[in-house]
Amino acid sequence: MWQKIQTVIEAIYPPRCLGCGDLVTSDFGLCGTCWRDTPFIGGTVCESCGVPLIGATDGHRIECDDCMAHPRPWTDGRSALLYSGRARRIILALKHGDRPELARPAGLWMARAAKPILCDRMLIAPVPLHWTRLARRRYNQSALLAQSVGRETGLPVCPDLLVRSVATPMLEGMTAAQRDELLTGAIGAHPRRRHRMTGQNVLLVDDVMTSGATFAACAQACLDAGANQVFVLALARVLRDT
Ligand SMILES: [Zn+2]
Ligand SMILES: [Zn+2]
Repeated sequence: MWQKIQTVIEAIYPPRCLGCGDLVTSDFGLCGTCWRDTPFIGGTVCESCGVPLIGATDGHRIECDDCMAHPRPWTDGRSALLYSGRARRIILALKHGDRPELARPAGLWMARAAKPILCDRMLIAPVPLHWTRLARRRYNQSALLAQSVGRETGLPVCPDLLVRSVATPMLEGMTAAQRDELLTGAIGAHPRRRHRMTGQNVLLVDDVMTSGATFAACAQACLDAGANQVFVLALARVLRDT
């Protein structure tokens, strides 16, 4: 019966490529061309942010230059894509293009990238949006990604674990010191949710990691609220020189 319904749905809404809109044979996917053009991260990566690194590991923990220069308050982190080319277009469509359905395949890619850092007693939480921005954008793309990662991993999700009490401007183009100053005190644990992270590990989810300042403010808020360890997961990581 379900199979029949699926077939009918697919006949009415044939699956389309998320990158270009061409028809594809599998649902929630990319066509061959877009798949090749989407910079998925694989191989040896930075343990803190997930950027690809050249060479193989010798069993020791490795980090990229950026993470070594800015020690992170979180334990480990991963990213599914590099923020360039087709990945950038997918993220802009999810963020500003009113395409919330992109969160589903993105969550699948993120869950795959996060596999090495998933652990027991882990609670997934999105990076929060200030309510004024939420009202303008209608949805928090990070919350959609968190739900999707939760579905793929089977881990619990708390969409309002953290709250942003101050509407911070876009951080792009600011120095690290300016970002830190703006974010200090802007993000905190939801007073009625903080008990959920006591002694738990938190996996923070965001669409893009640039400097890591937002993740750092969120991770600090979790640790202050009694979280055991904090991990971060971004759909895409911006490389500094791109
Ligand atoms: Zn395509
Ligand atoms: Zn790194």
